[in-house]
Amino acid sequence: MTATTAVTPMMAQYLEIKERHPDALLFYRMGDFYELFFDDAKAAAAALDIALTERGTHQGAPIPMCGVPHHAADGYLLTLVRKGFRVAVCEQLEDPAEAKKRGAKAVVKRDVVRLVTAGTLTEDTLLTAREHNYLAAYAEIRSGAALAWLDMSTGALRVAPLSTSGLPPMLARLAPRELLAPDETDLSALASEYAVHLTERPSATFDSEAGAALVTEITGAAGFDRVEAAALGALLAYLDETQKGRLPPLSAPMREVPGAQMEIDAATRRNLELTRTLSGERKGALLSVIDRTATAAGARLLSTRLSAPSADLTEISARHDAVAALVADEETRADTCEALARAPDLERALARLGLDRGSPRDLAAVRDTLAAAITCAEHLSGDQPARLADLREALTGQGDLLASLDATLVDAPPPHLRDGGMVAAGVEPELDTARRLRDEGRGVIAALETRYREDTGIAALKLRHNNVLGYFVETPAGHAKRMMSPPLDATFRHRQTTANQVRFTTPELAELQSQILNAGERARALERAIFARLSAEVLAEVAPLAALARALAELDVTAALADLAVAQDWTRPDMTPDRSFRIMRGRHPVVAAALKASGADIVPNDCDLDRDGRSLWLLTGPNMAGKSTFLRQNALIAILAQMGAFVPAEAARIGVVDRVFSRVGAADDLARGRSTFMVEMVETAAILNEASDRALVILDEIGRGTATYDGLSIAWAVLEHLHEANRCRALFATHYHELTALGARLPRLRNATMAVREWEGDIVFLHEVRDGAADRSYGVQVAKRAGLPAAVIARARTVLADLEKRAGARSGPALVDDLPLFRTVEAPPPDALRARLAEISPDDLSARAALDLVYELKSLAQKP
Ligand code: ADP
Repeated sequence: MTATTAVTPMMAQYLEIKERHPDALLFYRMGDFYELFFDDAKAAAAALDIALTERGTHQGAPIPMCGVPHHAADGYLLTLVRKGFRVAVCEQLEDPAEAKKRGAKAVVKRDVVRLVTAGTLTEDTLLTAREHNYLAAYAEIRSGAALAWLDMSTGALRVAPLSTSGLPPMLARLAPRELLAPDETDLSALASEYAVHLTERPSATFDSEAGAALVTEITGAAGFDRVEAAALGALLAYLDETQKGRLPPLSAPMREVPGAQMEIDAATRRNLELTRTLSGERKGALLSVIDRTATAAGARLLSTRLSAPSADLTEISARHDAVAALVADEETRADTCEALARAPDLERALARLGLDRGSPRDLAAVRDTLAAAITCAEHLSGDQPARLADLREALTGQGDLLASLDATLVDAPPPHLRDGGMVAAGVEPELDTARRLRDEGRGVIAALETRYREDTGIAALKLRHNNVLGYFVETPAGHAKRMMSPPLDATFRHRQTTANQVRFTTPELAELQSQILNAGERARALERAIFARLSAEVLAEVAPLAALARALAELDVTAALADLAVAQDWTRPDMTPDRSFRIMRGRHPVVAAALKASGADIVPNDCDLDRDGRSLWLLTGPNMAGKSTFLRQNALIAILAQMGAFVPAEAARIGVVDRVFSRVGAADDLARGRSTFMVEMVETAAILNEASDRALVILDEIGRGTATYDGLSIAWAVLEHLHEANRCRALFATHYHELTALGARLPRLRNATMAVREWEGDIVFLHEVRDGAADRSYGVQVAKRAGLPAAVIARARTVLADLEKRAGARSGPALVDDLPLFRTVEAPPPDALRARLAEISPDDLSARAALDLVYELKSLAQKP
């Protein structure tokens, strides 16, 4: 830009602010609109599907422009953030009247007050109430990696050290909306796989020393590893930058100790459909079936617990004790649920108040939550297990704050402070007076009009208002003379004469006018002051209030799990430090719910991995017989138990599982260019490499995506490896009946099968798991049920009979005997022909020698 280019002062201000926020769309506040200019306008108009216009020129070209009304900005912000944009919100920092005082051309002061990004949302309109909205920061140094994360809308800050392969499972678990990473680590593929918005930051912001100092400064906490401090520091610096120096109330970072949680890798999490189904929906996932929480914070905690069940026996037992107490006490449970249903979202209200973005509704949320908390605490009195007693303790002690809020606020305050009406009548006499004047202004004016008509005897006299004169008295022109003569001229002062009317004012009217006009502003100012006082009172108690919110969420989760246990007849699992796994009459919670909805009952099944020390089950049976259901239900039961829930079974004894693995019916992962078979093998490799003897593994149909013998061989070797090397508790479903012969050879392997009954060439599934092996796959019968044409079925039966006859001699048992378990592969005996060939150097051979060599080689080749 040349120095001579004429730029209006406003455009100069815009360009200066925009220059500081090159990577964000600048929402530039002008009166009641946020305006966008230049490329921002083009991008936003396209993304929001709004009109792109022009305004003025810049360097000779028209300036593209679009705008959104400020009162409806939230919806537009959400759309933009969801589409991956960041938005810099630039506000007017003074009244335009203020600016005018500096000169007619002076520009209103403006600056960016906040950067809106996917991970830093706080408004209820931009958030999903029952889901966390995490912002995460990944740091990596030579000695290791770490992830720090927080939900800015609730202030909960956490950090965990990570192994080199630890990031994907964490992304799967937390599903953060935004991930901060140093610009030199390329995480873009990972980010797109986990649908997280990647924000690359300068590596310098991941400095461990600066990070540690920032953590201590903001939260008072210390003692983190270098890489943890780097991640935390980057996170806090980003908050500071996006919130322009304001911070939500943050808890001291909680450090997640490796091993304290049950580990669940990304594939297992997907396969087990914990919080989302394979197709990405919430409905039909385990969470949707077990969620009976009453509050949004409770729902978030339940989801957190399900996503990261505990692996700490003491913690698990404490949770079960608490649930058991509420299962046993129906009255307390019901009263608690009822009180909780009236508790709003305290965590998010606190975060907004802390960021100076709070509203009267947020104060009411504090009030209503405190009232609900006190009620809950009262219901919990009496003899309770330690966990519930702790919760009760955390729920009390805010009586003064509650009293203050209660005494000041109306029952249902308006959404915005500017709307007025937050403070109850009778709280502040001056406010009451101002309001009366403001509201009764019309009435007072009408009364004055009547009086003036009587005083003057002019029935056509009116009190009117316009923007130039304010309030005035108006009479038809014919009365002008009388109005302007004694005695009326003492009261009425002439202001204006129009074609047909004469207008007057009176001292009384002028006074009334200023009172009426000021009353509204006065009332607003008084309410603002009261709002500020109440906010300060709340923020002074922010730490105990945050603890109270957590306690309430935990009580909600506990009561909801108790309610679920009673309603579904679930049972308390007996948790042990050993490797037990004994589920009696277990049910798949989601399949059971689906069947129930259609009027059917699920067939319960036992899974006893303790019996005779056979902790590896090989499950055979036709398709659709219920193998996957059985496999998954046992993994889900372990997860439910360790998250602190009761389980869908008649009895359960579970030795704490450190890690759950599942490989169940993978779909093609075309996004990553992997076929079903490749996905299957990658997942299987992870299991064989990583499952310890404390793991629980479920494997469904290994080796299906390749040729029969390939697949069978792989399944065979995998089974042996699980048995010999991993020695974990495992359920292995297969359609390779050949494998069942291994049952006789492997001491810890049990054969189990899904019972079916054949009836008139048809197959009936009993959904019952029994000892033993399936005699065949019944594939043809299943195909028949699926509606394959009768001719095809008949032909398939013929082909099958023929194939079975031919393969008869080479069935499973023979194969087992031929293949010793884990035989080391011996090197083949030296081969004379090859040895001789290796010695030859062709370039040195004469024609004669070459011919001799051919005879020699021929004779070597003929030797056995
Ligand atoms: P497989 O893995 O053997 O092909 P699935 O586990 O997918 O079979 O089960 C197929 C269907 O059978 C399920 O969708 C469910 O409706 C039904 N089913 C499975 N297990 C049971 C059970 N225990 N009780 C009742 N119905 C069941």
